[in-house]
Amino acid sequence: MRYVVVSGGVLSGLGKGVTASSIGMLLKSLGYRVTAIKIDPYLNSDAGTMSPFEHGEVFVLDDGGEVDLDLGNYERFLDITLTRDNNLTTGKVYSKVIESERRGDYLGKTVQVVPHITDEIQDWLERVANIPVDGNGDQPDICIIELGGTVGDIESAPFIEALRQFQFRVGRENFILIHVSLVPVVGVVGEQKTKPTQHTVKELRAAGLSPDFLVCRSENPLEEATKEKLALFCHVDVSHVLSAHDVSNIYRVPILLEEQNVTQMIADKLKLNITEKRPLLDAWKEMANHVDSLTDEVTIAMVGKYTGLSDSYLSVIKALQHSAFKVGSKMNICWVEATMLEPESKETSPDKYSQAWNDIKSADGVLVPGGFGNRGIEGKILAANYARENGVPYLGVCLGLQVAVIEYARNVLGLAGANSTEFDEDTPHPTVIFMPEGSRTHMGGTMRLGSRQTNLQTENCDAYRLYNGAMEIHERHRHRYEVNPDMIPQLESAGLRFVGKDTEGQRMEIIELEGHPYFFATQYHPEFKSRPTRPSPPFFGLVEAALKSKN
Ligand code: GLN
Repeated sequence: MRYVVVSGGVLSGLGKGVTASSIGMLLKSLGYRVTAIKIDPYLNSDAGTMSPFEHGEVFVLDDGGEVDLDLGNYERFLDITLTRDNNLTTGKVYSKVIESERRGDYLGKTVQVVPHITDEIQDWLERVANIPVDGNGDQPDICIIELGGTVGDIESAPFIEALRQFQFRVGRENFILIHVSLVPVVGVVGEQKTKPTQHTVKELRAAGLSPDFLVCRSENPLEEATKEKLALFCHVDVSHVLSAHDVSNIYRVPILLEEQNVTQMIADKLKLNITEKRPLLDAWKEMANHVDSLTDEVTIAMVGKYTGLSDSYLSVIKALQHSAFKVGSKMNICWVEATMLEPESKETSPDKYSQAWNDIKSADGVLVPGGFGNRGIEGKILAANYARENGVPYLGVCLGLQVAVIEYARNVLGLAGANSTEFDEDTPHPTVIFMPEGSRTHMGGTMRLGSRQTNLQTENCDAYRLYNGAMEIHERHRHRYEVNPDMIPQLESAGLRFVGKDTEGQRMEIIELEGHPYFFATQYHPEFKSRPTRPSPPFFGLVEAALKSKN
């Protein structure tokens, strides 16, 4: 097993995740099996209890793990399926060590960060690196380990120390460290500044880790003089100072690194074989060119909680983009703040109200993504209503299904005040209700999570066509509430089609409408399994219908 560690310095959000995924993809293109582990030094056990508006989307895995969104990048770039253990947090490590202590595993010893926590981290990395991830049961050859946060944070210190020891445990020849840093340009002369990178490397080296490669984020390509300076002050070979300047699309990142010979240099260090033919890399280049060549545009109104952090809906955005690439269009996402669609906003913020409705009306399709909590629910219901009544292509994901069903109950069945008990406990018509297996006392890891089977009830539906004639569908879930089973007969007889149900036939998984160009909603989250060349079927259906409605 070879390990490629990716750390970061200066500031967060430099694209460490994309760098790690890109390196992984390049090594995979040599024919090696590649896996990835993300280390998150925070104390939460997992990302499930963290706000997506603060931390970015919570990504969900097949096994129900609620993890950092970088695992989504790895799955998409490397086309693999990871497990919850591929995301290691301080919370998980300490829980494990404290549990062992209580069991008496360290009887007589003082339990300490070094060596007990650091040993546990190393054991974890070695164990998880060997878990097969590409579906055929073979052990990976290379493990990418991304260290979250920035070097120098108090929280990451035990992990840095563990990694320092780890290079000796696994052998120096099987371990490389890539450090991602920032090279800003300051002042009118536009000089590329190396000092921040010098400092972060100094910090790393003081902790006993010396980077083999520097990946420098910058607006423009690194100048030769900048590279030489970095090489000199950071104890790195000049050819190992890589420029990661801005590119036209994300698929260009691995290509950019490849052009600087990174694969060959890593292969030399880790004694990997370089193959002449690399079809995966060729396909990647083709995709990058394709994405840059798109001219047409399709506009989807995304009705959610507006936030400056688009990472909150990362996988949904990706799934939309993958679908747009396939139909040969650019994806234009129009963000609509759900509360601005509500009648009260007409009084309080008239401009935003009319802008929001204009956005809905001029879009080629409407998407209501997953969500929790009361805010904006009425606006989402209004958006679903608009799409249904005006034949506008609609996709509802999780909460987006629930609001579509509530809308139908209110406006077609005429059940005034129909709602989800999540938003109105005393609703006269509980259309969406709490699921029996949920917990009301514990919020972490207690939802209906991960991959579950959906059985299609008929071949005569969009789902059958979109999922290529499969009658059994496996997608990932994350919810506490479901459509009230007692109301199904009523809703069905009024024309709402429940074309996909769980294996017991109890849980409603997919709804469709007869006679509408595309009205489709899923209780599951299809976005998590979307891939650049294999877009998620429900998203593809939306984009395809949106494009058709445009022409
Ligand atoms: N809040 C809803 C539920 O818990 C929907 C969740 C979601 O959209 N992920 O069922």
